[in-house]
Amino acid sequence: AQERSARAARLESLGQLAGGIAHDFNNLLAIILNHADFLAEEVSGQAAEDVTRIRGAADRAKALTGQLLVFAKREPTRVEILDLNRVVAEAGELLERTIGENIRLVCHPGPGCMPVRANRGRLDQILLNLVINARDAMPDGGVVVVETDWLNLDERSSSGLPPGRYVRLTVSDTGTGMTAEVRDRLFEPFFTTKPPDRGTGLGLATVYGIVDEAGGTIGVESAPGCGTTFRILLPSAATAETAGHDPAAGPAPGHG
Ligand code: ADP
Repeated sequence: AQERSARAARLESLGQLAGGIAHDFNNLLAIILNHADFLAEEVSGQAAEDVTRIRGAADRAKALTGQLLVFAKREPTRVEILDLNRVVAEAGELLERTIGENIRLVCHPGPGCMPVRANRGRLDQILLNLVINARDAMPDGGVVVVETDWLNLDERSSSGLPPGRYVRLTVSDTGTGMTAEVRDRLFEPFFTTKPPDRGTGLGLATVYGIVDEAGGTIGVESAPGCGTTFRILLPSAATAETAGHDPAAGPAPGHG
């Protein structure tokens, strides 16, 4: 648990640093984009094409700083009670398209409705990031399994989470796996082993930020040649406070 909290503290300070930079950078990008728009009205021909390129690059940069802000938990979002099983089922088609043809996607939803207090877009982001990484780790094909189930934690649990009922999301792949060095750093922003045109190193940093903000934890099990399993625990929203609330009926009296 001590190791976990040292790591959490390191990620926390990285988050503050990254969040500060991303915030200032976002403001500068807004100025660049604004002036590119003005310029686009004033020029034509080759110059207009150049302005379009500037715009394109600035837009991509904005997407990156946006992800950093998620990692740093500086972007407020609307939180509602959602059935994780339903979110997984509805993301299925997008995930299928993402993984391509030589990879099989298998979903094992746990029993019943699994209510969590979260933001819809952020849950999709978690699934997408984990599945993209699984795909990238299986260049010759393989299987990705997405699973949900219930978990009860008591006081003696070493997870660092308060006791209670949790929903667990597991994403595993039969890919290359990773070394201990990679495993140790994979939640750090900008840590990537992929070529620059494939990886930003922000995927798992973003996932970490989302899970942490939702009061959960994420763990990973992986070894070279043995595939990888990510396990995410999110507090179940099926508490006394929300009893009787139908998650399908819309937003709950949440925070955020
Ligand atoms: P990116 O995908 O842009 O590199 P991430 O933060 O999502 O950034 O991942 C960081 C690194 O963690 C990856 O570059 C890769 O080395 C490693 N990694 C993540 N998921 C997996 C996986 N399922 N199998 C093997 N390695 C992985």
